Amino acid sequence: MSRKILVTNALPYANGDIHLGHLVGYIQADIWVRYQRMRGHAVHYVCADDTHGTPVMLRAEKEGLTPEQLIARVHGEHLRDFTDFGVAFDNYHSTHSAENRAYAEDIYAKLKAASLIDTRAIEQYYDPVKEMFLPDRFIKGECPKCGAADQYGDNCEVCGAAYAPTELKNPYSAVSGAKPVLRTSEHYFFRLSDERAVAFLRDWTRGTNTAGERRLQAEAANKMKEWLGEEGENKLSDWDISRDAPYFGFEIPGAPGKYFYVWLDAPIGYLASFRNLAGKRAAAGETIAVEDYTDAARAAAAGTEMVHFIGKDILYFHALFWPAMLEFAGYRAPSQLCVNGFLTVDGAKMSKSRGTFITARSYIEQKLNPEWLRYYFAGKSNGTMEDVDLNLDDMIAKVNSDLVGKFVNIASRCAGFIAKRFDGRLAASDIAAMLEFESAHRAGVVARAYDERDYSRALREIMRLADVANQYVNDHKPWELAKQEGQEAHLHEVCSTALTMFRDLTTYLKPVLPALAGQVENFLSLDALAWQDEWAPLPAGHAINAYQHLMTRIERKQIDALLEANRESLAPAAAAAAQDAKNAKAASSQQRHAEKQQHAAQAAETASAHISIDDFTKVDLRIARIVDAQHVEGADKLIRLQLDIGETDEAGNPKPRQVFAGIKSAYDPAALVGRLTVMVANLAPRKMKFGMSEGMVLAASDADGKNAGLYILSPDDGAAPGMRVK
Ligand SMILES: [Zn+2]
Repeated sequence: MSRKILVTNALPYANGDIHLGHLVGYIQADIWVRYQRMRGHAVHYVCADDTHGTPVMLRAEKEGLTPEQLIARVHGEHLRDFTDFGVAFDNYHSTHSAENRAYAEDIYAKLKAASLIDTRAIEQYYDPVKEMFLPDRFIKGECPKCGAADQYGDNCEVCGAAYAPTELKNPYSAVSGAKPVLRTSEHYFFRLSDERAVAFLRDWTRGTNTAGERRLQAEAANKMKEWLGEEGENKLSDWDISRDAPYFGFEIPGAPGKYFYVWLDAPIGYLASFRNLAGKRAAAGETIAVEDYTDAARAAAAGTEMVHFIGKDILYFHALFWPAMLEFAGYRAPSQLCVNGFLTVDGAKMSKSRGTFITARSYIEQKLNPEWLRYYFAGKSNGTMEDVDLNLDDMIAKVNSDLVGKFVNIASRCAGFIAKRFDGRLAASDIAAMLEFESAHRAGVVARAYDERDYSRALREIMRLADVANQYVNDHKPWELAKQEGQEAHLHEVCSTALTMFRDLTTYLKPVLPALAGQVENFLSLDALAWQDEWAPLPAGHAINAYQHLMTRIERKQIDALLEANRESLAPAAAAAAQDAKNAKAASSQQRHAEKQQHAAQAAETASAHISIDDFTKVDLRIARIVDAQHVEGADKLIRLQLDIGETDEAGNPKPRQVFAGIKSAYDPAALVGRLTVMVANLAPRKMKFGMSEGMVLAASDADGKNAGLYILSPDDGAAPGMRVK
């Protein structure tokens, strides 16, 4: 039975570039869409830019643009990047659109009619200079628990405490710097805690799609259990869905000056993009029955599906608010969520200083083949929420050995004989060999893996079959047959059989490598390859085209150039700072503290010449990643560092240490972010004027201080945050 599926990808925010971390989820979805289409299923695949909210509004202002101008530019950039990586949406729309406004207003009106909208007075910080209410992340101040300075309005990055912005000491607006004042405002809420919503979500969580696959992956289902609590419990809170003007978004009907919060209309953008697609198709004379996919009753009757591919960071919105909003507005709830993990590069978070924060654009500009990345990401995708690691050396090895060494090799070894000896025409294939080769296909091994989005399993099986095909060629040695008398027919059959196997392998790989598959279709002179349950071999007499080079190997130097292009260099900043530092009179108190310790250590060394190993091991030295570095207002020498040494809070979230380091004369804070260095982790915390300092970073300098250059330490590649230095 043919499936009818609306597939969506999470909407990227219109406030930044697409990077390789984003591409994991888009490539996973695109592969699935291509596979389902090859099976003959009807798929509509849509996405859009998520455009509303305070960050877009403020960024546009900073760039001297209107929000509309900013989002138009970003829309063009995003669509170009997706297209270049083969992510082929049927439509790429915008949440700032007429269709989205209409859906948002309709869903809101229906939720209101169902008594699921409330209003409540909320006391909130207001920036009297900028004349706007401040989102939590735009208010800073001193932590009410530990006194650390410059903490955000929702939680302290030093002690991990969570609080309301109104609890901050000496709060200031991160937009204007003004002292915010408390103002009361009426907010609109979606009543997620309503028992109807809770009961619905419990039921929805347990559902399956039309293929019988579970609606939620195991990890997502566990999260839902945690959020929903035990049967009879109600752990959900109502959701604040309004923001006050000025705000870039849609005004709430009947509520002047109140706007829909960006997270309300973002997922609605899926429906808006689909509606917009239907409009474009209608203009071309094709009908898409939109309501068969969006209306609850009609979707049930038509047996359509709606499948969302999202990252794990937005599961909460897609598994709680979104299905409940749709359900109680009479819309169809999602059939399935396919949630992907985050991307790490060489085992670590993407880093600007190491050049591993790689933008999609730079990858294209460095002339790397996008299908190398598609193949590698597919091989690392197993259908779960696990993080995906892009190991650059492994990527080089996999692409070169699998695609060039195994796959392309089959065609390149056989095509020449067909062209030179047989006028470009094939003979009948060796039926026994083909039957054996295609047995896995008939068993549906690869198909099942693709269906379940376990592309890693699919590719392992495909590469096993590529080994079988290569073994067939090795066993029959066409290059030797070509030299022997009377082996013409045998040679012809072997090369034709190998090319039929190559046709099959290309079909299996086509969802992952659509461009390469297109080249092969052209070379073998075939119509677009579709998934077949039973295949006929390429027929005797079939004419193929001359073999053209299909794929080049990756060289390490190409990857190095890519990293270089993405690296935010430390060198110029450090050199300039070293010059400045010559004029600097004294290092900070922290640095003086370090120097005093050094002098003390030197004195001790002079006195006793040696320390015992026990003395040394008292110092807990750790590899630390600088996750944030900021100037300290009112301090000439200090940089406030947040250092990740692998510590977490009770909830398992990373909990970096705050350290004030007297290295401002030598380093630009922005250039430090992402670097690894060494810290003393068991130094007693010290309360400084600007907050707590919970350790010390090590820096080298001349002992006598004549050359005032400062140099922090860096470990060799491979060291990870939290590793002990001894
Ligand atoms: Zn704190």
